[in-house]
Amino acid sequence: MDHFLYRDGTLHAEDVPLAKIAATVGTPFYCYSAATLTRHYQLFEQALASMPHLVCFAIKSLSNVAVLKLLGDLGAGMDVVSGGEYRRARAAGVPGERIVFSGVGKTREEMRLALQGGIRQFNVESEPELRALSEVAVSLGTVAPIAIRVNPDVDAKTHAKIATGKAENKFGIPITRAPGVYAEAARLPGIEVVGIDVHIGSQLTDLAPFEAAFARVADLTVALRAQGHAIRRLDLGGGLGIPYTRSNEAPPLPADYGAMIRRTVGHLGCEIEIEPGRLISGNAGVLVSQVIWVKRGEDRDFLIVDAAMNDLVRPSMYDAHHDIVAVAEPPAGSPTQPYDVVGPICETGDTFARGRDLPLLAEGDLIAFRSAGAYGAVMASEYNTRPLVPEVLVRDDHFAVIRARPTFDEILNRDTVPVWL
Ligand SMILES: *Cc1c(COP(=O)(O)O)cnc(C)c1O
Repeated sequence: MDHFLYRDGTLHAEDVPLAKIAATVGTPFYCYSAATLTRHYQLFEQALASMPHLVCFAIKSLSNVAVLKLLGDLGAGMDVVSGGEYRRARAAGVPGERIVFSGVGKTREEMRLALQGGIRQFNVESEPELRALSEVAVSLGTVAPIAIRVNPDVDAKTHAKIATGKAENKFGIPITRAPGVYAEAARLPGIEVVGIDVHIGSQLTDLAPFEAAFARVADLTVALRAQGHAIRRLDLGGGLGIPYTRSNEAPPLPADYGAMIRRTVGHLGCEIEIEPGRLISGNAGVLVSQVIWVKRGEDRDFLIVDAAMNDLVRPSMYDAHHDIVAVAEPPAGSPTQPYDVVGPICETGDTFARGRDLPLLAEGDLIAFRSAGAYGAVMASEYNTRPLVPEVLVRDDHFAVIRARPTFDEILNRDTVPVWL
């Protein structure tokens, strides 16, 4: 459920008509609903309520500081994958004790930043990273709390670009090699083993791969404890999928996910961490765009809109489907026709949908791409010198621009022409 609904014949974000935001901010823009973000976070809180836990929002899905502050104020932890994301979490007021640091390529610089600023745990993904972290911690006279990210070799059955838990993926340490790496971690100075970490992929629409992975983590917990390691936290990653179409998909609910976690690892008495991104942010955002032209092709009509692949790359990068709706509610029973919905960029990949049945649309009409809150604005670029798409947050009848569209002066002033040219 989200809070983007038709009311009085026009699509609203909570109590604010999207057309009103468009008139103020211009198009395209992302719009997030505070009530939806809150609700999705609370679903995970409730799902894990019977176990000690921390829900760490995966910042990479939606990293605007205003959104992080909203979730952080509710008590959320944060999962960061870069020094930049660490800085965002801290700028949003989230204390280091609630931040976990994931990622296969942490630099020494990033390790120092997090160790000095405060960190709950590093999720370590390789032996060289472990040794470097030990050196950095010792040089700072501190101790780095760590979990080792294990690769359980399960097939997440999701898009190949976002599957991370098979042996062939670059992520984590093969679970079969984990005991040896934990033994090394226990010997290294400046390292304190606190848990085990796993994350098998994104947009999973079935609990079975999670359950298979978590069962392996449970076995590993028992084995490591027998070797004397104090495993007290299990970080089970993110990855729960969302419905991208209103009609047929029904991914598992957070409550079922929570029950499955309790069933597979609850008996171990560990503190549970999860790192959901998409399920919290995905359906909490829309991308609003305006029709520039309707163009008649040889055998189809093209809806050329002012959003493009640089603003929302998921369709061209992951073959992703986004529901598209007219902001003005079509009267019941009004006709539809198929459109190819495309952006203005000079690439055929700049296509949002082919043959999509939509109400009849004309130049100047507003449309909204649903489920665009996750991996939308964060992946935007200024390709074709299109200004970075702005972001708006709505709560009740308030809205605020939480990232302004840059001006062309700002864009051009970032380039420097060398004096010798
Ligand atoms: C991407 C990622 C997540 C979040 O995945 P979602 O599918 O958005 O829930 C969590 N943890 C790690 C380590 C990730 O890389």
